[in-house]
Amino acid sequence: MRIDGMGIDPVEEKEDQQAIFDAVTVGIALLRDRRIERCNRRMEELFGFGPGEMVGRPSRVWYPTEECYERVGQAVYADLAAGREVSHELEFMRRDGNRFWGRQGGRAIDPADPYAGSVWIIEDLTEEYEATKELQLARKVFEVSSEAIMITDAKNRIVSVNAAFQAITGYSREEVVGRDPKFMGSGRHSPAFFATMWETLRDSGHWEGEIWDKRKSGDCYPKWLTIDTIRDDQGAVTHHVAVFSDITERKATEERIAFLAHHDPLTGLPNRLTLTLHLEHAIEQAKRDQLRIGLMFIDLDNFKRINDTLGHHIGDLLLCEVARRIRGAVRESDIVARIGGDEFVLVLERSQLPNDASVVSQKIIDQVGEPYRFESHELHTTPSIGISIYPDDGEDIETLMKNADAAMYHAKGLGRNNYQFYAQEMNAAASERLRLESRLRLAMATSADFSLCYQPQIDLVTGHIVGFEALIRWDDSELGRVPPDRFIPVAEEIGLICYIGSWVLHTACQQARAWLDEGLAFGRVAVNVSPQQFRQPRFADLVRTILAETGLPAAALELEITESTLMETADTAVSILNELKEVGVALAVDDFGTGYSSLAYLKRFPIDCLKIDRSFVLDIESDPSDAAIAIAVIALAHSIGLQVVAEGVETEGQRDFLSRYACDRVQGYLYCRPVPAPEAAQFCRQR
Ligand code: C2E
Ligand code: CA
Ligand code: CA
Repeated sequence: MRIDGMGIDPVEEKEDQQAIFDAVTVGIALLRDRRIERCNRRMEELFGFGPGEMVGRPSRVWYPTEECYERVGQAVYADLAAGREVSHELEFMRRDGNRFWGRQGGRAIDPADPYAGSVWIIEDLTEEYEATKELQLARKVFEVSSEAIMITDAKNRIVSVNAAFQAITGYSREEVVGRDPKFMGSGRHSPAFFATMWETLRDSGHWEGEIWDKRKSGDCYPKWLTIDTIRDDQGAVTHHVAVFSDITERKATEERIAFLAHHDPLTGLPNRLTLTLHLEHAIEQAKRDQLRIGLMFIDLDNFKRINDTLGHHIGDLLLCEVARRIRGAVRESDIVARIGGDEFVLVLERSQLPNDASVVSQKIIDQVGEPYRFESHELHTTPSIGISIYPDDGEDIETLMKNADAAMYHAKGLGRNNYQFYAQEMNAAASERLRLESRLRLAMATSADFSLCYQPQIDLVTGHIVGFEALIRWDDSELGRVPPDRFIPVAEEIGLICYIGSWVLHTACQQARAWLDEGLAFGRVAVNVSPQQFRQPRFADLVRTILAETGLPAAALELEITESTLMETADTAVSILNELKEVGVALAVDDFGTGYSSLAYLKRFPIDCLKIDRSFVLDIESDPSDAAIAIAVIALAHSIGLQVVAEGVETEGQRDFLSRYACDRVQGYLYCRPVPAPEAAQFCRQR
C-alpha cells in the first residue's frame, strides 16, 4: 500500500481505497497540524471511537497525558523534519481510559513541513507484550526456583540449567550444556534402573523417583527427580524437563527417625525393641545350630542417688560414659542395649559360655568401677550384673530376661558390685517378693493389719522419758509378722510409702494426743519419715493438717529423717526442713554416720537432734574407731547446738560410755523394746 499517496488522489478509486484502508489490522491516520484529518476504521476501534468520530480531533486523544502528547510531539516532529521515519513503542490510551502498549510509525508527506501532513500507523502490541511478559516470568521462575531444573533436547543433551541446578550439583551452566547428564551419575543404580526409567518416560511422558547422583565435588547425594517429556505438534519428542531437589537433609531426618525408633537417644545404644528383635533372631539361630546365648542385665548401684544429688545433666554424662565403657569391654559383635534408666543388657553369642560371661562381667565390673570425672565432679559407680544362659535358664526371651533380672537382684542383695548367674532359687526369692508385694497392697486397703509400737527415749542425765519413737508393725494373716526393714523398701518401690507414712503419722499423733489427755508426760513422739514422703509436694502442709486433725501440739512431734534422705534431696532439703520448722515440729537426723555428710554440711539444716546409728553404738566399747566417731559426733553436734540421741543401746557398758561423753538421750533394748501403746504408757508411768 502506498500510504504516501493517501489523500492526494481522492477521486475515482476512493471507495476501493477506503475498503483496503479499513481492512488492514493497523490503525492508519493522516494528520495535519496534529489533527486527525482522516483515519481508518481500525484506528477508531483501537481507541474506542465510532465511525467518523475521530476525524477533526487532535491526536492528543491517543495519549494518556498532555505531557506525553507534548513530549512525543517534540521528539517525532524533529525526526520528521529531518526526513526520518518515526517508529517507537509507547503506551497509548483508549477513550475509556484503558491504556495499551503499541507501536507507532510515522512519516511526513513533505519533510520540509511535517505539520502540513503526516501519515501514522498505530499497532496494538498488547498480545505480544503479554506474551513477552509471560516469557520473562517463566524465565524468572526458572532462575529463582529452589528446585534444580535441567532441560535436555531429544538426544538428551543438556540445553539449559538454572541457578539451583548449579548450586546443587556444583557444575556451572558452561560446564554442562551440550553434555549427556549421565556424567553426573553416582554409579549406584543398575542399567536396568535407567532402562525402566526411560521406558516409563516413553510410555507416559513422566517419571519421578529417588535417585543418587554425584556432585562435581565427588560426593554422592540423594535427589527427588521428576522428568517430563515435551513433544512438538507432530508428537515428536523435542525436550525433556528434569526438576529435582536435594533430599540429603530429608533423608537424614528420616534416617534419624528410624534410628531413634531403634536406639536410645541418650547413649545411641540399641533400645529394648532392637534388643528383642535381635534376641528373637539369635535364639532362632542358636536353636538351629545348638548354640548358647548369654544374656546379662547390668544395673548401676547408686545411679539414682547420683542423679538426684548432682542433677540429670551429670547423670546423663555418667550414663553415656558407662555405655561407652561397657561397649569397650565387649566385642563388636556383642549387642549392648539400654532398656531403662540405668539398666543395660548385653547379649553374648559366643562358644565359651558360661565362662565368657564371667570374663566379660569381671571386665565390666573393673572398667565401670573406675572413677569418672565430669566438670568438677569425681564420681564412682559400680555395676551389679545378673546372667541367664540360653537354653539352660530359659528358651524364650521373656524367661531369659526375667531370670537375668532375678540374678541381678540377687547380685544387689549380695552387696552389689558383683555378678551372679541365675539359679532356680532366685525365682523363689522373686516370687516371694511378689507375694509380699500383693499382700502389702491388700493390707494398704484397710490398714487394719498395721499397728505401731513405741520405744522410749531416756534422758541420760535425769533418767526421765523424754520421747517415744513410733515404729510400724505389720501382722499379715498369711505371712505373719513382717519386719519393717523388709516391707518398707517394697512399699517405697511400689510407690505406696506415702500412704503408709501418713497413716503412721496420723496414728502416732492420735496416740500422743490421747496420752496427753491422760496426763502422761512422755515428751515427744518421734515418727520416721521415708525419703519419698519427705519429698512429696507440700509435705509440711500434710504434717500441719494431721496435727490440726488430731489436736497434737506441734512441739510434741519429732520427725526423723535419715541422713541419706537429706543428702539425696540435695538443695531442696533445706527449704523442706525450713517449712517443717515453721510448722513447729522438732527435727532429728536418723541413722547418722552411715552417710557421707559432714557436720559442717548439716549446719545448713535447721535441725534439732542427731541420732547416732546403732551400728556405731554396737561396737562402741570394742572398736576404737567407732568409739572415736561417737565421741567426735557428740562433741561436734553440741558445738553447733544439736542434741544427740544414741539408738540401739543394749548394754550398760554402752550406756556408761555414752554417758561419759555427754550423749543426751539413749534408746534401746537396755531400757525397753518397742512395745504397743498400753505397755509404753505403763513403762512411762513406772519411771
Ligand atoms: P530405725 O528408724 O533405725 O529404728 C530403730 C530400729 O532399731 C527399730 O527396728 C528398733 O526396733 C530397733 N532397735 C531399737 N533398739 C534396739 C536395740 O537395742 N538393739 C537392736 N539391735 N535394735 C534396736 P524396727 O522397728 O525393726 O525398724 C526398722 C527400721 O524400719 C527403722 O529403723 C526404720 O528405718 C524403719 N521403720 C520402722 N517404722 C517405720 C515407719 O513408721 N515409717 C518409716 N518410714 N520407716 C519405719
Ligand atoms: Ca528412726
Ligand atoms: Ca535409726
